[in-house]
Amino acid sequence: MTTSYYIVTFGCAQNVSDSQRIAAMLESRGMKAAKKLQDSDHVIINTCMIREKAENRVYGLVNNLTKNKEQRTKNRKIILTGCMVGMAVRDKTGKFLKLLRKRLPDVDEFLPIEEVGFDHDPIRTDRIHGLVPVSNGCNNFCTFCVVPFTRGREISRPYDEVLHECWELARLGYKKVTLLGMNVNSYGADLVVGAENIQVLRDIGKTYFLNSSISHSGKPKARPESKVDSGVTDVPQNDKLMKGYKLPNGRIVKPILVKHLNRLRIPTLFPYLLEDICKITGIEIVDFLSSNPWDFSDELIEVIARNPKISRKIHLPVQSGSNNVLKRMNRWYTAEQYLALILKLKSKISKLRISTDIIVGFCEESEKEFQETVDLVKRAGFYKAYIAMYSDRPMTAAHKAFKDNVEHKIKKERFEILEKLINIPNLKDPEFKN
Ligand code: SF4
Repeated sequence: MTTSYYIVTFGCAQNVSDSQRIAAMLESRGMKAAKKLQDSDHVIINTCMIREKAENRVYGLVNNLTKNKEQRTKNRKIILTGCMVGMAVRDKTGKFLKLLRKRLPDVDEFLPIEEVGFDHDPIRTDRIHGLVPVSNGCNNFCTFCVVPFTRGREISRPYDEVLHECWELARLGYKKVTLLGMNVNSYGADLVVGAENIQVLRDIGKTYFLNSSISHSGKPKARPESKVDSGVTDVPQNDKLMKGYKLPNGRIVKPILVKHLNRLRIPTLFPYLLEDICKITGIEIVDFLSSNPWDFSDELIEVIARNPKISRKIHLPVQSGSNNVLKRMNRWYTAEQYLALILKLKSKISKLRISTDIIVGFCEESEKEFQETVDLVKRAGFYKAYIAMYSDRPMTAAHKAFKDNVEHKIKKERFEILEKLINIPNLKDPEFKN
């Protein structure tokens, strides 16, 4: 008898894409998708922890499955995966796994998403639009965000593997691809210098940047006499960074050095990847989620400007318009720098529309700080915003260092103010829903 499965997915597009790979793995083992959860032998719950509400929905669902007589089937297995399991496997104290086991005693298996891999073609229901993950995890540690703890450090998929998946989508008749990464525009940094060197690069900063043999524009400079300057002794002499990186087609490219606040941040391959995907015949629209303002290099802007296949809708999370709040959030830009980036993008790319993420009521957010966000919103001209009321998350720096002390009532008021400013006036815009 064939065993059936049903997947419930919470959270973002990355989770949706992970669920497509889970389905492929299960089908490779001879399982078949059930039409309804009630008819399945296995229910897989792909969890999200971005906010407490999302986590509570998982507890509610498992509870409902096991306590509700109508829902209960004798032999149905419950498998938990996604962010909650990611957090459990990364929490070295073991406390979170213990808590999960205690709160969810009826879960039969905890499946870390890393165990699913990319061995099978994802099972997609959409026949036109394919989600293609290019990286997983994040190195940024914004103080409010649980992602570095649930998904771990950023790991890029091999360049040729991503390209191959896009070619395959084109062959199957897909017209649109969305490239996914928690910090999609830093794609490839780990491929270029090795995951262990990323932090070293970031710590070296300006001195290394000024003495690097590759300038920000990608043009080689004279190699410095010595790699040692002003006491910097650990400059990574990585061949791929210094001599160039060999793409699958044999072309040697200089990784794009993303400079931020006069510091070398990372060497990325994202602009090359984006441009190579645009060359695939059959793919008509390419977009990407989510990019970070501080990794939006000039080279990336140029690639978008000269490739009409790249969507003219860019998602660029700002989170707050207050420089003090941005500092507390460990976001590496000011409101002024963010607005300058938008201006630059709009001046180079015609018909550009920008959507964003904003958190209201972050720890200690004063009325004045919120008004600074209102000011930024008025100047930025977003066509859409995902507005969230701050939710304290375990393990994060904000959870440890700050107080979640903005009353719920105030958070709600601020949420509504921004909704009225950004989303409500644009609801009738045909682009709004896409
Ligand atoms: S960059 Fe995004 S995913 Fe990474 S820590 Fe910040 S908010 Fe989270």
